[in-house]
Amino acid sequence: MQKPRYTRLPLVTAKTAQLEHERLKSLINNMGDGVIAIDEHLKVASFNGAALNILDINATLTGKPITSVLKLVDKNNQALDVREIITSSKTSQTSREWKLLYPDGSKASLYVSIAPVRLGYGQRGQKGYVILFRDITREKSLEEERDEFISVVSHELRTPITIAEGNIGNAEFLLQKSGLKNESVQEGLKQAHEQINFLSSLINDLSMLSRAERGKLTIEIEKINAHQLVNELAANYRPQAEAKHLELRTDIDPHLELLSSSKLYVREILQNFITNAIKYTQKGHIIIGAHAKQGGVEFYVQDTGIGISKTDREKVFDKFFRSEDFRTRENSGTGLGLYITMKLARLLHANMDFASELDKGSTFTIFIPNLQ
Ligand code: ADP
Repeated sequence: MQKPRYTRLPLVTAKTAQLEHERLKSLINNMGDGVIAIDEHLKVASFNGAALNILDINATLTGKPITSVLKLVDKNNQALDVREIITSSKTSQTSREWKLLYPDGSKASLYVSIAPVRLGYGQRGQKGYVILFRDITREKSLEEERDEFISVVSHELRTPITIAEGNIGNAEFLLQKSGLKNESVQEGLKQAHEQINFLSSLINDLSMLSRAERGKLTIEIEKINAHQLVNELAANYRPQAEAKHLELRTDIDPHLELLSSSKLYVREILQNFITNAIKYTQKGHIIIGAHAKQGGVEFYVQDTGIGISKTDREKVFDKFFRSEDFRTRENSGTGLGLYITMKLARLLHANMDFASELDKGSTFTIFIPNLQ
């Protein structure tokens, strides 16, 4: 049998590899982001200078269990199981914002990214993970200040807008009652009313958004009569639908039981679906439905409207997204409704979905589970 032949690595290649290694090392060491590589026993294998800086440690980390080095808490200051977070990122990269807890109790906001890797070369390299983290405390506090500002401004604007809305409504009513026919005044008041209503819904969205972003939304669970809620909503929105010659129907399961959830948020979610259905439907009908399902109630709002294109379907829940379709742009909107709806749905542990076909219509469905 022929002996295998071993060839020595040419000196130049070894030198190049060494150089490459040094370069990589210095690159990682000069990064502003903290990098820690850990082995499969979750012990630190290597780290860079920024990691020490961010963690505020001035001793080597090598060999230390990551659970003693990286202490994370969530936004409610609940301690997180770092071991669980790391091992659950087995197949893909996980990126999240968490808070780092220092031994003296102070905290820093971190953007953490974890990816499973092989430490070493080739398939047989030892398994491990790379944790990349960035201190985003400054960005976070700016963001918090911005949300606080939006919250205060929207709160302050609410009173004058409500007063203006009431007065315009009164003026319209008095003009109609007086029998005076002045079309330009009538038209002016109508437009002012529409704009003030838009402003009011914008302020409402902004205030809800800033509270949702700051994690300030609290849930008050109560017993909801879903049958009654759907009927109320249908009665409230029917005039708006009929003004566009749209038929607004309900489809209510007679076996509905009381639902335990936040009435305020369930109503807000359904209102967002219904106002969209009315805005984005030019002819046909809208159905508001509620059906009993194991552990909760499934609501849906169906329309025969303009529908949502394939490319837009992925984006409708994004903050400030509005379709470029001119039929969307004919209607006023902020692009915040569905984003807020998604936040509220998460808060209620609800499952949301939608089906839509361009020029045929859309159906938004949400399953609201009973909460304790
Ligand atoms: P807004 O209605 O204020 O623009 P939303 O967040 O409620 O914002 O909706 C985002 C976008 O999703 C809308 O601008 C529109 O393009 C699309 N969309 C939402 N609901 C419907 C619907 N029922 N029919 C067609 N398009 C819709």
